[in-house]
Amino acid sequence: MAEKRRISESEASSPPPVPSISGFMNRKSYCRGLANPISVNLWLRLFEEGYSADVLVVTNGDIIPAHACVLGMASPVMKNMIRQSKCRRGRRRIISIRGVPDQAVRVFLRFIYSSCYDQEEMNQYVLHLLVLSHVFVINSLKKLCVQQLEKRLITIENVADVLQLARLCDAPRLAFICHRFIIQSFKLVSATQGWKVLKKSNPKMEKEIIESLIETDSRRKEKQRKLKERKIYLQLHEVMRALVHICRDGCQTIGPRDKVLKGSTCNFPACKGLESYIRHFAGCKHRAHGGCTQCKRMWQLLELHSRLCSQKHECKVPLCRQFQEKNLQQNKKDEMKWKLLVIKVTEAKSSLSA
Ligand SMILES: [Zn+2]
Ligand SMILES: [Zn+2]
Ligand SMILES: [Zn+2]
Repeated sequence: MAEKRRISESEASSPPPVPSISGFMNRKSYCRGLANPISVNLWLRLFEEGYSADVLVVTNGDIIPAHACVLGMASPVMKNMIRQSKCRRGRRRIISIRGVPDQAVRVFLRFIYSSCYDQEEMNQYVLHLLVLSHVFVINSLKKLCVQQLEKRLITIENVADVLQLARLCDAPRLAFICHRFIIQSFKLVSATQGWKVLKKSNPKMEKEIIESLIETDSRRKEKQRKLKERKIYLQLHEVMRALVHICRDGCQTIGPRDKVLKGSTCNFPACKGLESYIRHFAGCKHRAHGGCTQCKRMWQLLELHSRLCSQKHECKVPLCRQFQEKNLQQNKKDEMKWKLLVIKVTEAKSSLSA
């Protein structure tokens, strides 16, 4: 009865002028399902002209004539609304769709009749159409709205709204995409009006997003740490290759006594740094007593070599065999440390060839 009071006699008897059908069809419009343009046109005319309409759809500021059989067949919810409607204007039953722009309701109803939509109107009313299609169970339109949003209509400005609507309208994939979008562009999204509203109206969702933001950040840091670590192990692998090469072939001005050094350019990038270590190691006065920091580093490189070396007796790297013998007597804790290092360097090496 409430709706009946709101509609004046003049409103109900003279519906607003209908937009021209040819105008609609000339715009960039798309039709789903209906292949035949003649039948599309017929359905569009039936809606726009309201021929023999027996239902009036009342919006905030508009009254749209429609047909109970079409609306009822398309939507079980509308079927119920029409059946239960106590408001009538003449022989026409009245149902009301409020809370969304008038034009969104018109676009929604036109889609029900013709499966057609205008792209510009879709861009403008996609969120309203999503809600309407969910509420009235028009699955084909709901699917279309979700697709349009997923592919091209989510923006920094609307993503917070879309996320909330996607949750409300049970569109999990769309919600997931929005969630990921917010995480990726949080700085920009958090400055929007939509985010401010979400924070206020849905603190639980805000908390959930902040938590996954922190989780994503720590995952990113962990990934960076692993990349950095891998780089170090790859460098160590390079140093090991250069060490064998220097001790076997000689490089630049340093090499085995029995080799004539050609001083030619070398393909091992680690040679240069290693050369200065070896020179220092050979001449350092403190070496015998454990040595200075550089010497200690050299000892470690030699020990690492001995653990990676598969040549055993033929190996030209100094102290390789001695280290291998010493390694057998090492305590468990040190042994574990070295084994881990060997595994990491070997892994880095195999990841290169992968
Ligand atoms: Zn070299
Ligand atoms: Zn030293
Ligand atoms: Zn060796």
